[in-house]
Amino acid sequence: MIIVMSPTATQHEIELVISRVTGAGLKVHLSEGKMRTIIGLIGEKKLMAQLPLEAMSGVEKAISVTAGYKLVSREFKNEDTIIDIGGVLVGGSQLTVMAGPCAVESREQLLESARIVKAAGAQFLRGGAYKPRTSPYSFQGLEEKGLEMLAEARAVTGLKIVTEVVDIESVAVVGAYADVLQIGARNMQNFQLLKAVGKSGMPVLLKRGIAATINEWLHAAEYVMSEGNYNVMFCERGIRTFEDYTRNTLDLSAVAALKNLSHLPVIVDPSHGTGLWKLVRPMARAAVAGGADGLMIEVHPNPAEALSDGSQSLTPENFRALMSEVRAIAPVVGRRME
Ligand code: PEP
Ligand code: MN
Repeated sequence: MIIVMSPTATQHEIELVISRVTGAGLKVHLSEGKMRTIIGLIGEKKLMAQLPLEAMSGVEKAISVTAGYKLVSREFKNEDTIIDIGGVLVGGSQLTVMAGPCAVESREQLLESARIVKAAGAQFLRGGAYKPRTSPYSFQGLEEKGLEMLAEARAVTGLKIVTEVVDIESVAVVGAYADVLQIGARNMQNFQLLKAVGKSGMPVLLKRGIAATINEWLHAAEYVMSEGNYNVMFCERGIRTFEDYTRNTLDLSAVAALKNLSHLPVIVDPSHGTGLWKLVRPMARAAVAGGADGLMIEVHPNPAEALSDGSQSLTPENFRALMSEVRAIAPVVGRRME
């Protein structure tokens, strides 16, 4: 259930509604927009039905939500969410670019990557220290040593760090080094992990599961938000289809769908979304034109020698070209790039 307060509702009226609802044993989530306050109710439907909410002063309407998600929805919050990550805003008019290697491989590789993406205008350095690989024999990541390198790269360049957390045990350690916790595609429905990153309160980049519907993805975000953590970004990274020329099928219609259904920012990752470096630039352009709030791009100083995902990683030169193309498109769709 969502209670929409009228734009003229007073603070006192809002507080009365909240105390009535919590007094009945329900939990509330508040969304204080510029125009109006919206109160989301969580708890048993029977308890909600007994409350005369629409009769209370200051209440415009009470909407019963049948979907299993509400905090992520546009009904709950009409204005786009802007997430402040240490002064870098994601989701507003600024187009955000997260770039870097698939995996942290060495100090030199990472620092060089950081300098390259920073000089080209990215705000975030990406790079996995914990890698969820399809084969147990593939490179698994440098773990905490990799996190230390990411922190060093941040200190040197000022870039924010986004890196993956693969299990509940490592949420604390990754959280100690990163600015954004990435939930990988393979973990989108690891509900215990979603709750753990929700409890951490840190910004979360939630990648779409390999075979997840948009509906399932929205529910996954709701898991994080239901822990009181509203700093969630979606990341479209392609889904499994019958097409096998590309590694995945990048679903750009999901960006438009999410922008309608949710107020949360949407990032597009055309690197995993296509698996082929030659397709990354065109799909990055399409993503920005289609309304994405940002891009996640794999860049490697020397893709031919990358320990993972070299075939979808851009050379420094190609990444610079991508940035200048996207810089030209951004203002056409009302975005700016630094
Ligand atoms: C990644 O971004 O490093 C990654 C492993 O991506 P995904 O979870 O989308 O496969
Ligand atoms: Mn990768």
